[in-house]
Amino acid sequence: MSDVGSDVRLHLLGVHPATLRAWLEAAGHAGYRADQILDWIYAKNAESFGQMTNLSKGLRAWLEERAEIGRSRITAESVSRDGTRKLLLTWPDNQSVETVWIPEEDRHTACLSSQVGCPVGCRFCASGLDGVQRNLTAGEIVEQAWRIHRLVASSGGTTPEERPPRLSNVVLMGMGEPLANYDAVVGAIRILNAPWGLGIGARKITLSTVGLPKQIRRLADEGLQLNLALSLHAADETLRQELIPWGKVPLAELLGACAYYFKKTGREITLEYVLLDGVNTRPQDAAKLAVVAGKLRCNVNLLRYNPVPGLAFRRPGGEAAQAFQAALRERGINAHIRTSRGQDVEAACGQLRRRASEVGVLRPEENPV
Ligand code: SF4
Repeated sequence: MSDVGSDVRLHLLGVHPATLRAWLEAAGHAGYRADQILDWIYAKNAESFGQMTNLSKGLRAWLEERAEIGRSRITAESVSRDGTRKLLLTWPDNQSVETVWIPEEDRHTACLSSQVGCPVGCRFCASGLDGVQRNLTAGEIVEQAWRIHRLVASSGGTTPEERPPRLSNVVLMGMGEPLANYDAVVGAIRILNAPWGLGIGARKITLSTVGLPKQIRRLADEGLQLNLALSLHAADETLRQELIPWGKVPLAELLGACAYYFKKTGREITLEYVLLDGVNTRPQDAAKLAVVAGKLRCNVNLLRYNPVPGLAFRRPGGEAAQAFQAALRERGINAHIRTSRGQDVEAACGQLRRRASEVGVLRPEENPV
């Protein structure tokens, strides 16, 4: 798979070893150099060809002209009191996406975007307000994880006895609908998962979708054991369609695809449910959700809404969330209330990007961390 950007330089974060080998050999270089280059990038965290000291100076200069490792700039950053760190990455075409690092003791999670903007247009979401600008390439998706991976590694202890921390989990829950950019997303996941890549186990990777049944079935057949999270947000067909303009797929069809996913992968589905005060938090909403969840091997994640400036939806109080959870549990549904991370920064997806575009790009040095 090649991932050549607009300026013809090969984006190395999007290539597989066989492609890189063939590319080098076609130019008269030894094919085994591909493994050395990828080892420098993923295992040794190199960000420049100058660091690749086992390559000849000539090859390094040749690569400098024809290839690139990272191709984004970090143009804004926010750090929450709980340690959640959100980066705004800007690509050479000046399009930006958000990427988030969520540290929790030994667990380090990267939340990645799959598109610039989002075509789904959920009424309560900042990312959906402006629609989608373009798909990300596989390399651009991998690059987000690679940047977090380097930050995590550099955050560790300094003595040789201490094992450096590692990026352990990836969630595709940032901007965009991953299954609407299927080939690039699956290509990226294969690199994140590969032993020569970031080496993150498929069971530590979660793909979150609003629910495209055909693509869910296709994903089930990929032979990857990813976790699948379905953004349900309403178990009532009419309400779901109001909240999620792309949610026009009949629920029965969607649930059928999810059941197929479980059958093929053995992975339980997670139903994501953002609690929007008074909109989908009524007793009848819990009752309908219990019926839908009861049809699947699944667990339910309840997340209190993070308000988005300019949108009318409200965050419910803690007691209301607990009452909703209790109503599900009484009906035998495995439901958890998840804590929103990064509450004091622009925590909802798309907020940092919107603010940066409204006020002009906020550079890291203006927002010291
Ligand atoms: S919530 Fe997710 S799917 Fe919906 S508009 Fe936002 S980014 Fe897109």
